[in-house]
Amino acid sequence: MAEQDFAIVERVFRRCVKTSAKVERLWTGARWTEGPAWFEALQSLVFSDIPNDRLLRFDATTGQAGVLRQGQERFTNGNTVDRQGRLVSCEHGTRQVTRTEPDGTITVLASRFEAKRLNSPNDVVVKSDGTIWFTDPSYGIDSDYEGLKADGELGGDYVFRLDPRDGTLRVVADDFVRPNGLAFSPDERTLYVADSGATAIDEGPHHLRAFDVRDDGSLGGGGVIAICEAGVYDGFRLDTEGRIWTSAADGVHCLAPDGTLLGKVLVPERVANLCFAGHRRNWLLVTATSSLYGVRLAVNGAKTY
Ligand code: MG
Repeated sequence: MAEQDFAIVERVFRRCVKTSAKVERLWTGARWTEGPAWFEALQSLVFSDIPNDRLLRFDATTGQAGVLRQGQERFTNGNTVDRQGRLVSCEHGTRQVTRTEPDGTITVLASRFEAKRLNSPNDVVVKSDGTIWFTDPSYGIDSDYEGLKADGELGGDYVFRLDPRDGTLRVVADDFVRPNGLAFSPDERTLYVADSGATAIDEGPHHLRAFDVRDDGSLGGGGVIAICEAGVYDGFRLDTEGRIWTSAADGVHCLAPDGTLLGKVLVPERVANLCFAGHRRNWLLVTATSSLYGVRLAVNGAKTY
């Protein structure tokens, strides 16, 4: 059952949204938007337009977007904000994870694993202990469309954990076809990771997996909890109740912590990623193909990054 901009699958979803709310297109003009990261102090969203090799900034106080960084063959994809308020980015072009410092300089956090270049870091989250977790599928080296075509050196598409205190980079999962979006549960005891491998191989995975996060930073479990019924899951974030708000081809799907589909926010373009914004974290900002969309929800985003 659809009510305007929402599809209610389970009754509980009626308490997650105001069905009178509208999905608003806030800005358009990109080729493929990704990597939304909200800076509350600036009332601004930083996001990527990967094929145009640019980072954009949407200023919520004016409703205008402008170019933050462009044309350096970085082809930035996923972005997040670390616990010190700094921008952390995945770059296809440089095949690095970087941090933008308050003075504007760019620090390389990870570029190689055991002397081999990363593929093309895709999406990133920062745990409350400061460790940086990211996925490294080959999308950015498969062609020159959203990166620079090159051969992979690692022999696989992995999920990594970086400890920036000593620079230690570890593979925490190596059994993905194309690891993509990732996010922690509010208590950080579960790490969810999407596999969008269906984009690369016939009958490939288009699902979400849930891993147990051990105290030593390794992962256990990893079972599939949800299979995407519309395209693939790409980026996602969680609300304070542990529900997963994830990108899909027809909008944003809201899943229960066990993966049950609760409902959808219908978006007119294919969604790549999203984040919770605003002081109450109840404004869902969605990067969808050429545009940025926003919708006010009746839930609040978890304070995980
Ligand atoms: Mg992604």
